[in-house]
Amino acid sequence: MKGRVFSGARPTGRQHLGNYCGAIKNYVALQEDYECIYCVVDLHALTTLRDTRELKQNTYEMVLDWLAAGMDPKRSIIFVQSHVPQVTELHTILSMVTPMGWLTRLPTFKEKVRQQPDNVNYGLLGYPVLMAADITLYKADTVPVGEDQLPHLEFTREIVRRFNFQFGETLIEPQAKLTETPRIMGIDGVNKMSKSLDNHIELAATPEEIRRRVMIMVTDPARRYKRDPGHPEICNVFALHKIFTSDAAAMSRIETDCRHASIGCVEHKKWFAEDLIQALAPFRERRAELGQNPDLVWDVLADGAARARVIAQKTIAEVKERVGLP
Ligand code: ATP
Ligand code: MG
Repeated sequence: MKGRVFSGARPTGRQHLGNYCGAIKNYVALQEDYECIYCVVDLHALTTLRDTRELKQNTYEMVLDWLAAGMDPKRSIIFVQSHVPQVTELHTILSMVTPMGWLTRLPTFKEKVRQQPDNVNYGLLGYPVLMAADITLYKADTVPVGEDQLPHLEFTREIVRRFNFQFGETLIEPQAKLTETPRIMGIDGVNKMSKSLDNHIELAATPEEIRRRVMIMVTDPARRYKRDPGHPEICNVFALHKIFTSDAAAMSRIETDCRHASIGCVEHKKWFAEDLIQALAPFRERRAELGQNPDLVWDVLADGAARARVIAQKTIAEVKERVGLP
């Protein structure tokens, strides 16, 4: 039998190259070997959002990107967290087996407190419990995580062990599937590509937008003039270019020419922009095609929620019985 994967993503709207390389690409690949459940975690998003008016549009744009990139609603369950309210029930029940100290000690919580000192809400503290509820409600046995998410998954495993010890084997202890996540740097060349820093390039960007964003990319910081020899190994344009072209021969030519200063950064960026435009063309076309039907995303999400609810209802009934709720 196939293993079951669960992964949640906050609705951040149109996805960028970092989201693609770090998450979506892997989501698509996992569909080959696992039964996958992909969730737009809108409730999680509420812990950090002040302005929630964009939640709906962000959900739409992200899911449209997902579908265009090859996440397949026929094979995978794609849905919105809040459409299956059983998760909040399980969250409450799991919170009763969660020691407070475990939550306050998590580095991710401490980081959030630093990031938003004037909005240290209860949901922020309970974030990992809600995540544990997500994973266990759907009886997932495999969770793809990057290094930074490992403490959260370990937390889920501990909650499951505690629950099962106290009430009998009920929930599945999920395994981490460590995903190799390349850290895609933003166009500023110093920070991780991220929407909130506005240093990103969207997958759905038009050719003009791609050219504009690429041309302002920071290149090799050690190269001041065109006559200076370049260092491709520390150049972000070079790093991204390598990912988005299959022409290894061209890359090796660029590398040599850069080192010998026979090609300038502007020239290289022009090449990269055109290659990126070409690499993203099938995605752009597919997205435009799918976007023609404005109901498609919502239909996919409604169907996903219906399928998710079947699993959720079964688990929550089991859990309540084990706990002894009348
Ligand atoms: P924010 O600006 O709010 O941090 P974001 O656009 O960076 O938003 P996240 O919600 O942080 O998006 O990340 C969503 C997924 O994409 C995660 O799985 C994360 O690991 C991956 N990801 C995001 N940015 C990058 C990046 N620069 N390189 C690799 N993976 C990334
Ligand atoms: Mg981020």
